[in-house]
Amino acid sequence: MDTRIGFGYDSHVFKPGVPLHIGGLKLDHPEGLAGHSDGDVLLHAITDALLGAVAAGDIGSFFPPGDPRWKDADSAIFLNLAMEELHHAGYRIVNLDTTLILAAPKIGPISEEMRARVADLLDVEMDQVSIKAKTPEGLNLDHVAQCHAVVLIERVSEPDDLKSMSEVIESQRQLEDVVEDLLSSVHGVPKKRGAPVYDTEDIT
Ligand code: MG
Repeated sequence: MDTRIGFGYDSHVFKPGVPLHIGGLKLDHPEGLAGHSDGDVLLHAITDALLGAVAAGDIGSFFPPGDPRWKDADSAIFLNLAMEELHHAGYRIVNLDTTLILAAPKIGPISEEMRARVADLLDVEMDQVSIKAKTPEGLNLDHVAQCHAVVLIERVSEPDDLKSMSEVIESQRQLEDVVEDLLSSVHGVPKKRGAPVYDTEDIT
């Protein structure tokens, strides 16, 4: 069996007054996770594990944190892109194991709902998804949520003839086009085409 492994890690600090998103669920809690996107620490770690498994870069290379278009973005967008990279490379998920590290809220009572949501987002069965949680004993990190994710993937077909996004993106200009395509497909945001870029040396 042709298999590969991927690992992802992420951390976000808790912040009052923002909604808490973990594992694609909105949780009832007085604080949320600060971030440029919705701060979903679990989905970010899984995204990096998937991208890492096919050596396609990381979440920051596709979605720079300073880009205003990803402000408060639904992290399912990031996961979708990682799944596209996986499929382009000709692989599918065998199983996924994750560990959340946070002082509160308790994940145990909602872990089954979270597994179901993550399995749905990844289009796999629930028994392929494991979500565990620990408290940060002795780390003095009660104000932070961390997540580790490991994914095993197996080859199911030859890589697509079409290039994956990580191969296509060779310039900032091409990255802009990919980002606009993603935005228009997910949010129905109309594509905006900027004015042609002229080299000012040539129009003096
Ligand atoms: Mg993150």
